[in-house]
Amino acid sequence: MEFELAPAQRQIRQTVSEFVDREVIPVAAEIDATGEFPAALIEEMGELGLLGMPFPEEYGGAGLSYHAYVSCLAEISRGSGALGTIVGAHTSLAAHLLFQHGTTAQKRAYLTSLSQGEDIGAFALSEADAGSDITAMDSTVQQDGDGYRLEGTKMWVSNGTVADTVIVVAKTDPEAGRQGLSSFVVRPEEDDGYCVEGTEAKLGDRGCPTAALRFDSVYLPAGRCLGEEGDGFYQALHGLNCGRISVAARGVGIAQAALDASVAYAEQREQFDQPIGAFQSIRHKLANMDTKLQTAKMLMHRAADRKIRDEPFVKAAAQAKLHASEVSREVANQAIQVHGGYGYTTEYPVERFYRDAKLNEIYEGTSEILRNTIADRVIDCWHTLSKNRGYLLGGNSVQHTGAGHIRHCQSSLRVTLSRILGADIQSRCDQACWHGTIGATRRAPIWVFGTASTPGPGDWKISHYSVGSTEVRAGVRFRRRRRGKWIYRKNRETTHRRVRLPG
Ligand SMILES: Cc1cc2nc3c(=O)[nH]c(=O)nc-3n(C[C@H](O)[C@H](O)[C@H](O)COP(=O)(O)OP(=O)(O)OC[C@H]3O[C@@H](n4cnc5c(N)ncnc54)[C@H](O)[C@@H]3O)c2cc1C
Repeated sequence: MEFELAPAQRQIRQTVSEFVDREVIPVAAEIDATGEFPAALIEEMGELGLLGMPFPEEYGGAGLSYHAYVSCLAEISRGSGALGTIVGAHTSLAAHLLFQHGTTAQKRAYLTSLSQGEDIGAFALSEADAGSDITAMDSTVQQDGDGYRLEGTKMWVSNGTVADTVIVVAKTDPEAGRQGLSSFVVRPEEDDGYCVEGTEAKLGDRGCPTAALRFDSVYLPAGRCLGEEGDGFYQALHGLNCGRISVAARGVGIAQAALDASVAYAEQREQFDQPIGAFQSIRHKLANMDTKLQTAKMLMHRAADRKIRDEPFVKAAAQAKLHASEVSREVANQAIQVHGGYGYTTEYPVERFYRDAKLNEIYEGTSEILRNTIADRVIDCWHTLSKNRGYLLGGNSVQHTGAGHIRHCQSSLRVTLSRILGADIQSRCDQACWHGTIGATRRAPIWVFGTASTPGPGDWKISHYSVGSTEVRAGVRFRRRRRGKWIYRKNRETTHRRVRLPG
């Protein structure tokens, strides 16, 4: 598994790396010490195209692949963890949500200025009582004439004090659970009632303002809802999945900085008349640090690769973030050990790396939540069609799956599915149905299967769909017809995945 950047993209990473060495590393300690948002540096990065890296040029972006984007973000984080958060929250959360779910008009109005660095973006999801459990949020949006009225508070909003465009998730239908959340574009300069209540004093990540926000009956004109009303939960999770790859990049960058500092120190520091780098215990530490770093990099690129290929990447992104977060903290910890007493002081940067790294394990899904996400997919959610009798809804017909074959069933099941799955899911099902099949097992989880075209003998029919935040992939080989029925066989490389019902 090799994730090589194309020569042009390698050149861009090299340019970013040189920029970081020249402009970021010399001021990183000061950014940390003062905790001030590095506005001049961010402006310069905007001019260099570093605030819209993965977006197409038509929306002011640099058109980089996700591999190149995360490589560059790792470089930026190597220079400063705070800059890693600023760029990550701006790009992977705010701008990415607009790119993914915005209308053409919304992208032109808001994404272009974000990509070009004229505006700064933020994403406001968390609240005082709604962190891991975002459906517990209290913020609401109500229809007001042609527009909307936003009321509520948000916590821990990265870039919250400096943002020009904030994607806010709030409840449009408090009774509807996950289907009752929607995302809105909020413009602090234009929308009266947007108040910054204060910023958090933090262990690390200083320089990226983490704000508490209050929305005092903020009027949002028509055209500010992102996507459809009720899509907010799924949009947020999708955004967080992309964000998790960028947090992995932040982890990789911080770990790289900690390793680089340790190698340099091990060569220069002498004890017992020799460089400490000559001691086997120090050499082994460096070897372990580098090995962990390389595995984190691989998982980061693996997640980016799946995203680029438009394959399900929820698990890959969770694994990349989980691992890179822990690696960055462990490598920074070892870096302090290599530095001895000096490492515990602010004279050397490794204590900052340690403080900055810790955050990776908390935001955009704590390590515990990520383990839940991964475990759901590793343990619970892998099933095969042959083991589960279920219903397939495909084309104009509804079918019932038995062990090893597909049989026709009553089409009235579609109505039942609609009731079980909810309108939002059902509309997605309808979209997928024109060339796919969708079903639900008897025990409530939904099955979604896709075929790229009408199955024929010997064809592998592999496809995947997203149902809200849930990724689904199915691989079915239609081998031959027996007594008028298509026979399928499980593709060994892909697996049918059971997904949970929302709400
Ligand atoms: C510096 C910083 C920047 C941030 N930036 C943003 C931002 O830009 N936008 C935004 O919306 N939010 C942001 N956040 C919020 C962040 O995403 C949340 O802090 C995070 O999701 C955890 O939520 P919580 O703090 O409420 O912890 P809680 O959800 O209260 O969790 C507390 C502990 O319980 C564990 N836990 C909770 N539920 C479960 C479960 N089901 N299973 C196992 N363990 C569980 C958690 O893992 C954790 O260890 C930021 C936070 C920080 C610290």
